[in-house]
Amino acid sequence: MSFVLPHIRSMPRYQTGMAPSPGDPAVKLNQNENPYPPSPRVREALLMADPAALRLYPGESVERLREGIAALHGTVPGQVFIGNGSSEVISLIMKVFVGTGGRVSVPDPTFGLYQTAAWAQGAEVCRISLNSRYGVDVEGLLTSGSKAVILVNPNAPTGLLMENGQVEQLVSGFPGLVVIDEAYMDFAPAGSSAMELVEKYANLIVLRTFSKSYSLSGARVGYCVAAPELTAALDKGKDIYNVNDLSARLALAALQDRDYLLETAGRIIRTREAYIRRFEAAGFSVLPSAANFLLCRVPEEGNAQEATRLYEGLAEQRVYVRYFDHPRLRDKLRITVGTEGEMERLWQVLESML
Ligand SMILES: *Cc1c(COP(=O)(O)O)cnc(C)c1O
Repeated sequence: MSFVLPHIRSMPRYQTGMAPSPGDPAVKLNQNENPYPPSPRVREALLMADPAALRLYPGESVERLREGIAALHGTVPGQVFIGNGSSEVISLIMKVFVGTGGRVSVPDPTFGLYQTAAWAQGAEVCRISLNSRYGVDVEGLLTSGSKAVILVNPNAPTGLLMENGQVEQLVSGFPGLVVIDEAYMDFAPAGSSAMELVEKYANLIVLRTFSKSYSLSGARVGYCVAAPELTAALDKGKDIYNVNDLSARLALAALQDRDYLLETAGRIIRTREAYIRRFEAAGFSVLPSAANFLLCRVPEEGNAQEATRLYEGLAEQRVYVRYFDHPRLRDKLRITVGTEGEMERLWQVLESML
């Protein structure tokens, strides 16, 4: 006899990347966190925050963040829903729009949390394999017959960007809800976002996060933009005060420093391009990434042993990258783009093993 419900008992726990303890001089390139600190305005907001205000439940600060997000995307606050990280928004989408016994379609491979969030609600997951060039199979998703589709664009862990036309084909042709997670969109070329389609399609939810391009993984703030009917439904399903006052202030400060975001994202993009060339010159095969990470196939295709050897060798030297035990990913490493210095260190260790 177990107190745990069968669907929770049978599901695996979500696997996060290894987190080195504070003070460990590790190079952490395994969770796609931003290697640069958040905007100096975040520090100012933190120093200006009044501890006495923590006596009260959050309200005003979250509302101001909502207005700021709406202004950024040229929409109204009623079309913005904010969560405790976009992970919470993903869970809520499963809870509010898919539900027990419902089914959601995802590309495969993709971000593992979609599956975990669906299973935790007793929902089913339909996996649609990426095509031979690792692109999203739009036709397969369109005809999958699920209540909802969720995908990340640029995709993880491939880094590949879907063309705007393909995104619109999916949103306009799918009879259910389409969720486009744009966690990495700030690292993609301008004009690639589906944000503008929200006005046109009532079945579209676009997700964003402060965790990656804004360097605020620790603050836990994410949001989505969608039709008011959908944001209102998420609002009913959420925990009552799901976004804390301090994080809302920090996120707003980061949001208001657009120049800083563009500068740091620009640096990451330049480092990304330089290392794609380096990896390729060394015989690796790298997908053209529009995100802040690289999916690198070892020189010999299909050689999973070589990939795990490199992964383990790097970890021994305290350089943490990501390895996925998935049929399409076993001969690859996923490497977050770090600072120039971190990437130099990665390269040093890798070269010594080749
Ligand atoms: C990192 C990431 C997120 C962000 O999750 P948060 O809960 O906002 O930190 C969302 N989606 C994808 C695909 C990610 O890689």
